[in-house]
Amino acid sequence: MDCKSAEKQIPDFIRGEMDTRPAEQFLAHVGSCPSCKEELSIQFLVAVGLSRLEEGEAFHLNRELTARLEQAARHVKIRKRLQGGLYLFEIAAILTTAWVLTGVVF
Ligand SMILES: [Zn+2]
Repeated sequence: MDCKSAEKQIPDFIRGEMDTRPAEQFLAHVGSCPSCKEELSIQFLVAVGLSRLEEGEAFHLNRELTARLEQAARHVKIRKRLQGGLYLFEIAAILTTAWVLTGVVF
């Protein structure tokens, strides 16, 4: 993922509206690109921090952003595991069907 597409995805990331694959690529890019990480911090501060501060609550930008990034990374892992599980399940289903069919044919 390049900086341009990473920057475009920042609002989706902040809203939590990202699919597993783009989220994984986004996290990888932001993790290795200081300028996109900074852009993310700024937009996160504007989108989440300001409304929080308006409500009179404390807001720790780095802590909350780090927590959000870790949460997203966990979600990616869980969803990938689920998808891997579904994939295996499908293969098992196909094999079972094939086995049953060949059993019927022969
Ligand atoms: Zn970048």
